[in-house]
Amino acid sequence: MVAEIIGIGSELLLGQIANTNAQFLSQQLSFLGIDVYWHIAVGDNRNRILEALKSASKRSDIIITTGGLGPTMDDISKETVAEFLGMGLEIHEPSLKRIEQYFKSTGRIMTENNKKQAMFPKEAKVLQNDVGTAPGAIIEKDNKTYIVLPGPPAEMQHMFINYVLPHLADKSDKKIFSRVLHVFGIGESTIENRIKDLLLRQGNPTIAPLASYGEVKLRITAKASSQQEAEKLIKPIQSEIEKRFGSDIYGYDDDTLEKVAVNMLRDRNLKLALAESCTGGHLSDLITNIPGASDVLLESCITYSNEAKIKRLGVAADTIKTYGAVSWQTAKQMAEGIRRSSGADIGAAVTGIAGPGGGTQKKPVGLVYMAISGLNGTETKEFRLSGSRLGIKHRSSLHLLNWLRLYLINNY
Ligand code: ATP
Ligand code: MG
Repeated sequence: MVAEIIGIGSELLLGQIANTNAQFLSQQLSFLGIDVYWHIAVGDNRNRILEALKSASKRSDIIITTGGLGPTMDDISKETVAEFLGMGLEIHEPSLKRIEQYFKSTGRIMTENNKKQAMFPKEAKVLQNDVGTAPGAIIEKDNKTYIVLPGPPAEMQHMFINYVLPHLADKSDKKIFSRVLHVFGIGESTIENRIKDLLLRQGNPTIAPLASYGEVKLRITAKASSQQEAEKLIKPIQSEIEKRFGSDIYGYDDDTLEKVAVNMLRDRNLKLALAESCTGGHLSDLITNIPGASDVLLESCITYSNEAKIKRLGVAADTIKTYGAVSWQTAKQMAEGIRRSSGADIGAAVTGIAGPGGGTQKKPVGLVYMAISGLNGTETKEFRLSGSRLGIKHRSSLHLLNWLRLYLINNY
């Protein structure tokens, strides 16, 4: 099987960016045993994209394009591929819903032209974008496979590893098996540095670090003829990574922080109560999304105003006056208050400034204090988070879940 990569974007031709997408894809394809004989780079120009597709489809079995899936007029990759294949475009409803949801969750306004990103030929297998808006697609025609991917490297890589790799592996006699290790609280580049030697040595299995929302997923992918054979290939790499990251690895495969936290509380037979301010109930929402959360969560208080913190949690009015509602002192009393009044084993609290307004030089948007109160007293932590209002609510919740998990390992 021969694959060919078409990088679409005038930036590539102007020398403004290097074609790292082609580099990544060539590497991945070679791991799969798929030969790459051609790389093309072409501008955002309909005629020249058509020409590139024409020559690529004559000599290659798999044609992968990257870039030009954005919402603007000059993003024409998908339209041009569809035209080349003689296919029309129609709204793909699940994608439209996802894009709307994406805008909501990042606190941005969706414009009419973003709808263009949800248009696909009905023959296409649409690939969802887990870290951006533009979905990609796989289209089979006349024994050729056309794969259309977004330009931003993080989006392209996520999509390739999660959705394209399994599809390509289906075409060969070997199958793809993978194990995902979830690391939270360490940046992507730090993680890459700490496993640089493994990344450089990779072959079968491959290791792909994929970053999203404060966590990095390390996906180890093996090509093998059986699950057992794959296990044998994956195990040594997995153990090596586990040795290096220890308890910073919070889970495997489909695990989420909330699922892991709930399971750990249940295993230890502990009850939890929460006092939320800036997260407005989001933390409780995440926890109660896990089946069986009622085994561990007693109650949550959304104490948004100062009065509520005083009345419901017994925070001292003086503390708020002296240190402010967003302070470790207030967080501490919130956690202690909810623990006391609920009778839970563990009380956890979060108070911070989600923005976009309300920040000051001393207390900027994204400043968040958390506290966990338990058997051995109360601990507090300060976080400086970034992002939109919803992003900060989400990240705060994840950080508290991660800290809770580590707190349980250390104290119970
Ligand atoms: P967007 O929705 O951001 O417009 P897109 O799918 O339309 O995405 P482009 O507009 O072509 O993609 O590129 C967006 C950005 O992605 C570029 O500015 C560049 O940073 C990066 N990018 C695009 N193509 C490549 C490539 N081949 N290699 C590396 N980076 C790339
Ligand atoms: Mg674009």
